[in-house]
Amino acid sequence: PDTQGREVDVLIIGGGQAGSAAGFYLRRAGIDFTILDDQDQPGGAWRHAWPSLRLFSPSQYSSLPGRMMPAPADGGYPTASGTVAYLTDYQRRYDLPMVRPVHVDAVHRADGGLLVRTGTGDWHAKIVISATGTWSRPYIPYYPGIGEFAGRQLHTAHYTGPEPFTGQRVVIVGGGNSAAQLLAEISTVAETTWVTSRPPKLLPDDIDGKALFDLATRRYQALTSGQEHAGVGGLGDIVAVPPIREARERGVLKAEPMFARITPVGVAWPDDTHLACDTIVWCTGFRPDLGHLTPLRLRTRDGLIPTQGTRAVAEPRLHLLGYGDWTGPASATLIGVGRTARDAVTQITAQLQTSQPPR
Ligand code: FAD
Repeated sequence: PDTQGREVDVLIIGGGQAGSAAGFYLRRAGIDFTILDDQDQPGGAWRHAWPSLRLFSPSQYSSLPGRMMPAPADGGYPTASGTVAYLTDYQRRYDLPMVRPVHVDAVHRADGGLLVRTGTGDWHAKIVISATGTWSRPYIPYYPGIGEFAGRQLHTAHYTGPEPFTGQRVVIVGGGNSAAQLLAEISTVAETTWVTSRPPKLLPDDIDGKALFDLATRRYQALTSGQEHAGVGGLGDIVAVPPIREARERGVLKAEPMFARITPVGVAWPDDTHLACDTIVWCTGFRPDLGHLTPLRLRTRDGLIPTQGTRAVAEPRLHLLGYGDWTGPASATLIGVGRTARDAVTQITAQLQTSQPPR
């Protein structure tokens, strides 16, 4: 394959916040690298978020290394479009070597490194950082009857705002922040029912992403000093951002247990209670986008790849960054990924010093 001019020491796949944070530290370490991203503009997943989305922490707790995100003019928490603008500026400011739009199809083992196949040719890298995020893999759980529902079904990933639901009966599924935020909006124009598999946990009003990050920090410190830590479970709990508090005042934040099946016109519980509805909104999360790594055969039965830090245990030339706590505490957040990226680059620097040049 033609790899002329496409040989780099480190190739990052994915140019969202995780890829950008890794780029910041690679640039600082003077390492030769390139970032491939399959979108034609910067911003990663934030480009696809619904327009009203606000982050759950203030800008100083939503920032990548080196540069603080500017606070929005209205004094509130940052918006999705503000985050896209920040990431765009970040890539320009640190002169990150982006090549876009390039979609990576597959990563293979090769002499002296990894071979990365794209729609526009091959790349060869001594080390690959996969930072492809989760947004392109929305997850919808299976329920009996799901295929026969005559109404509309929609995942968080495709939500654009409450207007299309005006006057409808809408069932919102999921116990996390996305579900609560969509419920808060949709309930202003529609008759909503919220269903969750576990009773949702609303955090106290004074807890935001900053407090959750502090929790993640304690976990990081415990783990790096060889102690046990219970995990950052609190990250899934619902942050009482202003629209959620307002919905709580209106009394719409009441959750029902999960239904057992879906009928052509609604949902039904185990005791056969039936609720007719027009739309089911699945706020049921995302899975890591790891399809391009299939040829490496690294996934275990849970669909994840065992890692030590960010490095794949069975393929040390591959690092995984940003997907969730399994690739570093809070590494799927803007503030958390910086620390993980720094550690990854420290390890990569050492790896490159001991690696053989590619043949
Ligand atoms: P992404 O932003 O998804 O970037 C990955 C990039 O890789 C994308 O540009 C993608 O197109 C590209 N790509 C994917 N596959 C390929 C391929 N095969 N070849 C080439 N390119 C590829 N975090 C916070 O810190 N604060 C919050 O308030 C917050 N709120 C959130 C609200 C919602 C609804 C969601 C879903 C997440 C939220 N997060 C929040 C979490 C987190 O910040 C995001 O999930 C974040 O976008 C993850 O960044 P990433 O760089 O890992 O992935």
